[in-house]
Amino acid sequence: AKVAGGNRYVIFQPEMHATLRERMQLENSLYQALEKQELCVYYQPIYSLNNNQLKGFEALIRWQHPVEGLIRPDKFIPIAEETGLIIPIGAYVLWHACQQMQQWYEQFPDLNLVLSVNVSARQLSQPHLVDTVFETLTRTGLAPEKLQLEITETTVVENPDAAMQTLLKLKQQQIRLAMDDFGTGYSSLGYLSRLPIDVLKIDRCFVKDIEHNENSLEIIRAILGIAQGLRLTVVAEGIETEFQAQQLRELGCPVGQGYYFSVPLDVAATTQLIRDYSEV
Ligand code: C2E
Ligand code: CA
Ligand code: CA
Ligand code: CA
Repeated sequence: AKVAGGNRYVIFQPEMHATLRERMQLENSLYQALEKQELCVYYQPIYSLNNNQLKGFEALIRWQHPVEGLIRPDKFIPIAEETGLIIPIGAYVLWHACQQMQQWYEQFPDLNLVLSVNVSARQLSQPHLVDTVFETLTRTGLAPEKLQLEITETTVVENPDAAMQTLLKLKQQQIRLAMDDFGTGYSSLGYLSRLPIDVLKIDRCFVKDIEHNENSLEIIRAILGIAQGLRLTVVAEGIETEFQAQQLRELGCPVGQGYYFSVPLDVAATTQLIRDYSEV
């Protein structure tokens, strides 16, 4: 918060000024980062919980800042969304991830993995998104059924009709669609029955609480029930412990990702993981 709690009369504070300046600097250097190709994509493996089979990867953007080091997306995605920079950044991630995935397919022809890419609200509200996605697939050669796009509930709530149109067009081309962070937004169930979604991703906050909070377990059970009724696949996010993996397995959750299996990896480490995996 920019205004201190008990100090409502102080509108202008020096630290506010600093925050604003910092923000503008960040915005400016983010723009340059895109041009200088300092943005890169990491890949977090996603596994079948029953047999530890590798199912795919989630592409996650990183900013390799020359001075600050590796910057996580929570720091700059919100600014990118506000300024609209998320449009070129999103296209950049999509392009690099699809190209990389296609390269892995050529290098390891027996692979059967799905690439999951995050799409923000601002991107989804752009009619151009569909063209960008199709063009990226055509030019990289990646098969549409190997691509999954992750949207959030808030993404859809902002502009449901436009979102629906876009999602239907993507779905017609066999692109898979996932609802990210499921259970943390609002109006989720109403949209869920109408949107052409294939996958629900259970948010990390429920998984994290499994050990200590009986309610989280029940919420996960309920989500799995809804998914079964609607014939959707479920991916549990943020699995950090064997206990959590085991609980989810017992509840019948088919797929998961999290630090317990692997943190997001750079291209070299991901290639090594695929190579090791292909050899067993
Ligand atoms: P998300 O889509 O919910 O991605 C999952 C986040 O959880 C990632 O954070 C991932 O590194 C982290 N994570 C995975 N497993 C674990 C775990 O076991 N424990 C914990 N504590 N965290 C785990 P990351 O990479 O920092 O990304 C944060 C958010 O930034 C993402 O949340 C997504 O909303 C956004 N984001 C990342 N890349 C992109 C992108 O290319 N485009 C857009 N629009 N958003 C992106
Ligand atoms: Ca995601
Ligand atoms: Ca998520
Ligand atoms: Ca999230």
